[in-house]
Amino acid sequence: MRKRALVVGLGIAGMSAAIGLRQAGWTPVIIERAAGRRAGGYFVGLFPQGRQATADLGIAGHLHTRNPESEPGGNTWSLNRRGARKPALGFLDQPGRPAAVLRGDIESALWQGMAGDGVDDGIEVRFATTPVAITEGAAEVRVLLENAGTGARYRENFDLVVGADGMRSSVRRIVFGPHEDYLTKWNAMICAFQLPEQVPSYEASDSIIETRSKRAVWVFGFADHAPTALLTYRTKDIQEQFAGSPVERLRSVFSGMDSPVTRYVLDSLEQAPELLFDSVHQVKMPRWSTRRVVLVGDAAWCMNLYSGMGATSALRGGAALGTALREHPDDLDAALDAWETGLRPFITKHQRAARLKQQMFVPSSRRAAVLRSVALDVLRKVRRRQVATEAAAPPAPALSGTRR
Ligand SMILES: Cc1cc2nc3c(=O)[nH]c(=O)nc-3n(C[C@H](O)[C@H](O)[C@H](O)COP(=O)(O)OP(=O)(O)OC[C@H]3O[C@@H](n4cnc5c(N)ncnc54)[C@H](O)[C@@H]3O)c2cc1C
Repeated sequence: MRKRALVVGLGIAGMSAAIGLRQAGWTPVIIERAAGRRAGGYFVGLFPQGRQATADLGIAGHLHTRNPESEPGGNTWSLNRRGARKPALGFLDQPGRPAAVLRGDIESALWQGMAGDGVDDGIEVRFATTPVAITEGAAEVRVLLENAGTGARYRENFDLVVGADGMRSSVRRIVFGPHEDYLTKWNAMICAFQLPEQVPSYEASDSIIETRSKRAVWVFGFADHAPTALLTYRTKDIQEQFAGSPVERLRSVFSGMDSPVTRYVLDSLEQAPELLFDSVHQVKMPRWSTRRVVLVGDAAWCMNLYSGMGATSALRGGAALGTALREHPDDLDAALDAWETGLRPFITKHQRAARLKQQMFVPSSRRAAVLRSVALDVLRKVRRRQVATEAAAPPAPALSGTRR
């Protein structure tokens, strides 16, 4: 008998875990709160560990990437206080050369990977369905499920529940306790959305960065898609930010930044069919699983957007869960222990790094803004020199030659 797992959430973590479980010989069933699959989303930089996970999950061939053709710092512009632009290092110039994608590109690749292929059955997905209660027993876990459309409730037993339902995870709240116990304070807000087209007077795939103390506007360019925008700011009063409309709030927060770029981004915000406006947190937990319930992705360790590693870690976490279950087929405790032991150092490292990266996204003071600018200028020069040296170096000798 194949073991059955309930995976809660049809995001990157949920689909990665479901494919990993299927590879391990399990039968996963995904439930998703939304009535249908989402598409699009914001810019995501996918790092080598995430790309390796797409290969492990067998979906690398489905992943569409959108990196603009350029040298490091070749198509990113930074704006000064007078609105003048100068070349800058951008998100994609980080070590590891991340792949530029929309969140929906990763989800679409995973979705294709969930289909049946003659060897494995397609993975069952139930939309508009949420868990209401989760009761763990010695041999199984009993879940009370609710269909949002009909209101119907029914119980079902599984061998494992995987909570992949994001930063404000219901599985975490039901099994591990209230959000306040796990969401750490970052005193920052974000708004991400797709621009209808590039900011006037910039090349289609350009990226643009305009930072001030405590406020920043980022435009992420793609090779073959309109850019996405990110507005981010620091504030101590998070509750207050949700009072009233996000558009009015953002207009007020960004008032005084009146370069053509920020004006265009704020005007586009008013027309945006979809936007993500939320507070920034990390999720910190001493342990990601109980006996038969495990959390993955943002539900377990949300690193937040400043880390740039959330999608990468969600892919890696889901793939690694499958590997651990495959290597410990008859011992769930051992599998979950091995999975967490293997993954935690990576998560801890990137959660820590996010504090410094936040300064790169949105400096905490004028002084930090100046330091950031100087540091990035130096890095850009170093990087350009490296590229020039690499270009001038003679080609490496062929490996098949005679060695002395
Ligand atoms: C603006 C922005 C930029 C980012 N940039 C990057 C980047 O450059 N690189 C990177 O690696 N990461 C980035 N991230 C982070 C990355 O997008 C996330 O970490 C990743 O998508 C998390 O995936 P997830 O599946 O864990 O959670 P989610 O994407 O939140 O998915 C959770 C799913 O669960 C569903 N759900 C929620 N509650 C329930 C319920 N009760 N029942 C059933 N279903 C439920 C939701 O509808 C959703 O489909 C960025 C994030 C943001 C916001």
